Order: sequence, then C-alpha cells, then structure tokens
Amino acid sequence: MTAQQLVREAAARLAEAGVESPRVDAELLLAAALGVSRTALLTTGEVPDDAVARFAALVEQRADRVPLQHLTGTAPFRHLELSVGPGVFVPRPETELVAGWVLERIAGLPAPTVVDLGTGSGAIALAVANEHPGVRVLAVERDPGAIEWTRHNAATRASAGDTPVEVLSGDMTDPALLTELDGAVDVVVSNPPYVPDDARLPREVVDHDPPLALWGGPDGLDVVRGLLDTAVRLLRPGGWLGIEHADLQGSALPALVRAHGHWTDVADHPDLAGRPRYTTAQRSGH
Ligand code: GLN
Repeated sequence: MTAQQLVREAAARLAEAGVESPRVDAELLLAAALGVSRTALLTTGEVPDDAVARFAALVEQRADRVPLQHLTGTAPFRHLELSVGPGVFVPRPETELVAGWVLERIAGLPAPTVVDLGTGSGAIALAVANEHPGVRVLAVERDPGAIEWTRHNAATRASAGDTPVEVLSGDMTDPALLTELDGAVDVVVSNPPYVPDDARLPREVVDHDPPLALWGGPDGLDVVRGLLDTAVRLLRPGGWLGIEHADLQGSALPALVRAHGHWTDVADHPDLAGRPRYTTAQRSGH
C-alpha cells in the first residue's frame, strides 16, 4: 500500500474512534513507523510490510487514546523536541507562551537566574536555556518518575550545546527548597498541577499524564498557595513570577496573588485561543 492510502484509512479509523485531529495524527504515526519526517511522507510511495505492521499497531494504540506524543516518543516545544513517555506530563502548546513570557522578562539581562518549579519534561526550563544563552536555570521536580525524563532531556540539550540546566529533586511548596538562592532569583515560573478535583479530563490525560502533574485540590489552587510563599522568598525585589492556570481560574488566581500581599503589577494573560492562561506579578520591594 502507498503512504497516501495508509494515511487515508488510518485517519478514518481514528476519526471513528473520536480522536481530535485524525489526519495529522495518522501522518505523524506513519512518519514514526517509517523513521522519517512528516514532510518526507509526500515523496514516499509504497510502504514496506514491516513498516505497515508497525503503523497498524500505533494506529490501534492511538484509537485506544494513548497520547500521540507517547507513541512517537517526542513532544515539540518551541524550538525543541523533548523526549516524553509514561511517567511524565506531555508539554502542551499553550505553555510555550509562558516560556516566551519568561524570555521577555530576562531579555537584556546578561546572566539572569530563573527557577522553573514543577518542570516535568523540563519544557519551560530547557526552552529558556535554549533561547537565552548565559541564563542560569534551575529546574525543580518532585516526582521521581518524571525527573528521570527531566534529566534525560537536560542532558540531551546540554550535549547539543545549550546552556546546561540544573535539575533538582524537590517540592515547590517546601520552605527549605533552594534557600541558598533566597532573594537572588530574577524569574520564578511554574506550570503547576492546577486541575480542580471534580474536573473531567480526556482519557489521553487522566490515563497517561502523571496524577501529581494534574490535580490541585478542590479549586485546583492548593499547590499554587504553597508556591506563592516559595516564590516571594526566592525572588529579588522587582523579580517576576509567572504561573500557568486553567481557563476558569483567570480571576481566582490573580485574586489569590493580590491577597498574598507581596506583589505589584498582577496581570492575567490569554493563550492563542483567547482563553485566560497565565498570571504574572512583580515582587514588591518591601
Ligand atoms: N493543561 C493541562 C490539561 O489540560 C493541565 C496542566 C496542569 O495541571 N498543569 O490537562
């Protein structure tokens, strides 16, 4: 069978299973089965039998709602391709904006210090190191399964020539975390677990992303409450905090930051779909 025929059939199968972007997923899975890029499919004719068999198995797993990124083993994030799989949260495109905001905050600073709390695959931390040479980035993760992926991705990026990111095992709500950096950090950023306990998530997410990366208590903001204390301790006066949140938390999170009392310029920002997505604030000088 030709690549075109295989993609057409698989896209129909995935659509019938209710997968959100069946055509793109079919193309990316065939590219993975062949070990080529998606664009190379355009010039692929007959597909060898062994690749057809590998592709069929991948399509069935995708129809069973295994995340596409677990099947290809990678997730794109800004300029990077990160390794992901069971045990680590798959980085989402909306988080790329949060990383972009960090880069704006440190633009022009020759040797800024950035702390990424709850780094998971390392997405935000590694993108910042990739796009701002000279930055010192500390990436903190509490989940022993996830941090294996953080370390792997950090090692890959460092050997590709990026500024090395320091990976640390730790809890973002721990008062003893990184005390040696108290008052010395320019930006604290986090995509914390923020899903309210009663929320319903797609199977790709509940069955495959680690629970520690998702659930945030009754209003989803339990971890964020502890994170604010850590951030105010680590940041220098005038330093910045950025926190991703769920679309329904676009008022609650800024209100929580204002009520915390150590912050000015509290603002909320939408993602590319126009949904409230992250809150930023500047640490006040007293
Ligand atoms: N945005 C994620 C989701 O929709 C949740 C991420 C998080 O809690 N940090 O599944």
